[in-house]
Amino acid sequence: MKYVSTRGSAPELGFADVLLAGLATDGGLYVPSEYPSLPDLPNGRYADLAHAVMSPYVAGEISSDDLYRMCVDAYATFRHPATVPLVQIDTDEWLMELFHGPTLAFKDVALQLVGRMFDHVLAKRGERITIVGATSGDTGSAAIDGVKACQNVDIVILYPEGRVSDVQRKQMTTVDAPNVHTVAVAGTFDDCQDLVKAMFNDVAFRNELNLSAVNSINWARVMAQIVYYVAAIDALGGQPVTFSVPTGNFGNVLAGWIAREMGASVDELVVGSNTNDILTRFFDSHAMVASGVVPTLSPSMDIQVSSNFERLLFELNDRDGGATAEQMNRFRASGRMDVEPDQYARWIEPVFRAARCDDDATVATMADVYRTTGMQIDPHTAVGVSAARQCAPHSSPVVTLATAHPAKFPDAVERATGRRPALPDHLADLFDRPERTTALANDLATVQKFVRSVATS
Ligand SMILES: *Cc1c(COP(=O)(O)O)cnc(C)c1O
Repeated sequence: MKYVSTRGSAPELGFADVLLAGLATDGGLYVPSEYPSLPDLPNGRYADLAHAVMSPYVAGEISSDDLYRMCVDAYATFRHPATVPLVQIDTDEWLMELFHGPTLAFKDVALQLVGRMFDHVLAKRGERITIVGATSGDTGSAAIDGVKACQNVDIVILYPEGRVSDVQRKQMTTVDAPNVHTVAVAGTFDDCQDLVKAMFNDVAFRNELNLSAVNSINWARVMAQIVYYVAAIDALGGQPVTFSVPTGNFGNVLAGWIAREMGASVDELVVGSNTNDILTRFFDSHAMVASGVVPTLSPSMDIQVSSNFERLLFELNDRDGGATAEQMNRFRASGRMDVEPDQYARWIEPVFRAARCDDDATVATMADVYRTTGMQIDPHTAVGVSAARQCAPHSSPVVTLATAHPAKFPDAVERATGRRPALPDHLADLFDRPERTTALANDLATVQKFVRSVATS
C-alpha cells in the first residue's frame, strides 16, 4: 500500500514513513492510494477485527504477526471485555462506548495502538524521536498514555497552567515514566500551540531532537478509528447503520466515511457540532468559513477549522492534489472555501447530515438521557445524541459514538443530572497520586532548553 499527499507534490510513501511524518512535506495529509475492500471479518475479540480491517493498510511494512501482537496489547488496556461495547438508549438508538481505555476518551482507541506502532518502527530503524505537543485536555493524556511504555520515544506535552480541568491535568502529571514530561506554561492554549509550532519551525532544533507529533491529522490515528464502525455494524447483525459523531477536527467522522468506502454498511453519517459549528454551517451553506472559537461544555470540539476535512476534499476534487492545494491556500488566505454544487451532490448529500447543539441543549440532552435510562453521558456524547435526534427520522438504527466517560467532565454532568459521576476503579485514587510537572514561562528559549534537557536522542 502506497500513500499520496492530498496536495499532490510530496513524495509517495509507505506506511511507516507516513506514520513518522504526520504531515506531508507539501503541507498536505497522506491518504492511501486507494481504499481497499473490507476483508472477511473474523469472529472473536476486538483485536482480531482490528487486525483484519487494518492489515491492508500496513501490508509490506508491518508483518501480520507484529500487527496482531500490537492490536492485542493495545486493546488489553481497555477495561471492558467487549473493548467498545454497544449500549441501547432507546428504540433503534444506541451508544458505542469508546471510553473504556486508560484515559477515558475515545482517543485511546487510536493512540494506544499508534504509540506501539511508533516504537516498533523506530526500533527496527534504530531511531529515537521526541514528541512535542500542546493540549487543552484530552489529547495530551491519551498521547502520554499511548507512549509511556515506549523505549524509543520521549514525549513533552505543554498545557496552559490553570486552564485544563483537574482530572485532565492529573491524568498527565501523575504518569510515572522516565520518558514522559509535562510543562505548565504560564499562558493560554494558543500560546502553547505557538510554542510547539515555533519549535517545529526551528529546523536545527527539529533535526537535533528528531521532533515528531501525534496530532489528529496522522493517518494512523484515522486508520485505527475505522475499526469500531465495522465493529458496531457487525454487532447489530450487519444491517445498515446510521452513525452520529460528535466532531471537532472531522477525524472521527472521516473514519466512518472510509469504512463506508471499504464497503461497510454505513448508511448516513450525522456530524454533531457544538457552538463552534464550522461544519454545520458548511453543510447548510456549502461553504467552509472560519470564525473565532468560543469555549463550550464540550471543550475537545472547540476548534476553528476541521483539519481532517482536507482528506474528503481531496475526493471531492477527484483526487486532484493541485486543485486541493489551491483550495486550501485560498482558504488560508481568505478564511473561506466553496465547493461546487455537483461535488456537493455527489459526495456530501448522499451520506452526511449535520446539526449543532449549544450548551443549553447539551445539558438538556444529558438530563433527558439520565431521566429515561438512568445513564450519565458526557457533554461530547450528548452533542452526538442531540444531533442524531435533530436529524430524525432515520431509515436505519442510529449508533452515537460516546467519546468520553462522564467522569471526565464531572461538573457538566453534575449540572445536568444532579449527581457527580465517579471515576472508574482504576482511576479512583487519581487525586492521591503525586504530580510531576514543570512550570515554565511562555518563552520559546526557556521551553526549548527544557525539551533539550529531557530528550535522550
Ligand atoms: C477529540 C475529541 C472529540 C473530537 O474528535 P475529532 O476527531 O476531533 O472529531 C470529541 N469528543 C471527545 C471527548 C474528544 O476527546
